[in-house]
Amino acid sequence: MKESEIRTDESLLELERRLKNDVRSFVKKYTDLKNVPCPACGNEGNELAFRKDSFTFERCIACETLFVNPRPTPEMLRDYYENATSMDLYVKKIYPESEGARLKNIVFNRVDSIVAVCEKELIKKGTHLDIGAGFGTLCGELKRRGYFEQSIAVESSKAMAGVCRSRGVSVIERMIEDVEIQDIDVVTAFELIEHLFNPRDFLVRCHELLNEGGLLIMTMPNVHGFDIMTLAEESNYVCAPAHLNYFNPESIEGMITKNGFEVLEITTPGKLDAELVRKKALEKRISLEEQPFLKKVLITDWENVGAPFQEFLATNRLSGHMWVAAKKV
Ligand SMILES: [Zn+2]
Repeated sequence: MKESEIRTDESLLELERRLKNDVRSFVKKYTDLKNVPCPACGNEGNELAFRKDSFTFERCIACETLFVNPRPTPEMLRDYYENATSMDLYVKKIYPESEGARLKNIVFNRVDSIVAVCEKELIKKGTHLDIGAGFGTLCGELKRRGYFEQSIAVESSKAMAGVCRSRGVSVIERMIEDVEIQDIDVVTAFELIEHLFNPRDFLVRCHELLNEGGLLIMTMPNVHGFDIMTLAEESNYVCAPAHLNYFNPESIEGMITKNGFEVLEITTPGKLDAELVRKKALEKRISLEEQPFLKKVLITDWENVGAPFQEFLATNRLSGHMWVAAKKV
């Protein structure tokens, strides 16, 4: 998979332009951000990692989670997602245009992986909830395969919930705190936890919703991945106020275990790290002049070693995209 298959260059440029404006307005509007301890382990007193777009990123000295601190409150975040022009572009253009490619490159694999872990753990095929379901692509595909009795989208955005409904996906148009449904066997949350003011509260809520032995499956950025470690604040994933939490395999495991789950799998099946870093180098946003090894892998010998290098990252938990499956105990 290439990045251009899920986002065109033209859309990316426009997205970048709008994001800049959205962040600028946000920073101007909200100056009273809130201080928090490490969202993974609760440690206080952490070190400055860097600043980007007027936001401060700290690194936990205990568990190496990177996080925005101080950070916007849930109310500020709701306002941001409802009014950001970049979100509007995403909903009206980028998502619809790239849905076919996302289905082929991302969603089919996700569904296969969900089914595989459910089969392995002998999970009841009753009710599945997808939190932050977006356009309901995943729920739609699970419904088409008929794996669960029901697959329900939880999506608080009115526009996206509308799309879910229009394609026959059951949707609860609420935030997860306000979801009142029981007897859940599987909860999925893809690329969601990095956006949340309080990830711990989210885990507690998932724990309440799930049946005993139920599964929680999530994906998120891995701060110990090749792209984020190499690019740091230059990484496009490093963007506040959207992304506030950047866990690593150890810190997410610690947090999940502390909140009543047993971790079954933590893998990094990412496919884009090498290409993302290569792109930044080609665009001269970073320099590889002092990194002859990376220059060789990502530029000079790219055609031969790019793909196997990415494979190496993915199989050794060194990719920036992380997959986590855990069971309620
Ligand atoms: Zn920590």
